[in-house]
Amino acid sequence: MEKETFIFEQDLLQMADRTRKKFCKDEVHLRGIIEFSNYCSRDCLYCGLRRDNKNITRYRMKPGEIVGLAVKIAAQGVNTIVLQSGDDFYYTQKSLCKIISQIKQKTGAAVTLSIGERPLDDYQAFKDSGADRYLLKHETLNPALYRILHPGQNLKQRLKILEYLKKIGFQVGSGNIVGLPNQSIKDLMRDVLLLKELDVDMAGIGPFIPQKDTPLADQPPGDLDLTLKVLAMARILTKNAHLPATTALASLDRESGYLRALKSGANVIMPDFTPASYQINYRIYDNKIDLSLKKAKQIISKAGRTISRGRGDSLKKRP
Ligand code: SAH
Repeated sequence: MEKETFIFEQDLLQMADRTRKKFCKDEVHLRGIIEFSNYCSRDCLYCGLRRDNKNITRYRMKPGEIVGLAVKIAAQGVNTIVLQSGDDFYYTQKSLCKIISQIKQKTGAAVTLSIGERPLDDYQAFKDSGADRYLLKHETLNPALYRILHPGQNLKQRLKILEYLKKIGFQVGSGNIVGLPNQSIKDLMRDVLLLKELDVDMAGIGPFIPQKDTPLADQPPGDLDLTLKVLAMARILTKNAHLPATTALASLDRESGYLRALKSGANVIMPDFTPASYQINYRIYDNKIDLSLKKAKQIISKAGRTISRGRGDSLKKRP
């Protein structure tokens, strides 16, 4: 029985790898991430940036600093800039629009936003300023679990925003966390089915990793093999969605996590360009890996794959 289970697991990962090859070819897309603020107005139980965490040095990058860094990233041949932060309303609609349009003016790169839940008209304004993609993980599709983990937020609203982002023409990413306390395998299957149902352009799938200054500090981390299987299922079901080898997954297996993800369905990798002095305080979870562009390129070549030279836009055909 045990042997059979093992064979099944290998088959699943290999099938995902074949699906990736068929629909996404051997190209791996680089996304350069800037974690520009660790202030957050939300209180998600698992996240180190949560509002109630007093044991964190908060920072905000200035708009000029963000734009300048984006220009440097693009100059190194990275054609997608991901702007990520806590849900930080210090940055107004107007200031974010200015940052987006300046990056778009000064580079040929795609801009992906990962800045959480905002009023709906903010999203339209970001789109009008030239933002290309929006990443908003649904985190878990189990409503009861969602409610406990995200005080003051609800799953319906998150899903409504995802539909809205799609409607106004963003390339949309969602995704989920694997191994949350009290999460079942059924929950995870539903998470993956949602990605298919939403027909997402991209999805981030990573394990839960405890952060010492959160209420979930003492919970065990998500299982690496289970995370790889969920990633593989997502690849098989979504076919050509862009799926990153996530930093969280690699943080659980520092030696070969990225490589194993790239061989289990992933086709994207996200080197981190946040200046070191800030990055040490972007502690969404403990022991987060700092992936340099150089290291990312080494991993791609070790996986026997090629670096995409394009922007890596969605492979989905939209009407
Ligand atoms: N404020 C933005 C960005 C959040 S940080 C938003 O809400 O979309 C990006 C991702 O980090 C989250 O979507 C979540 O899935 C992940 N994350 C946060 N804490 C984590 C933890 N302890 N373990 C694993 N992933 C975590």
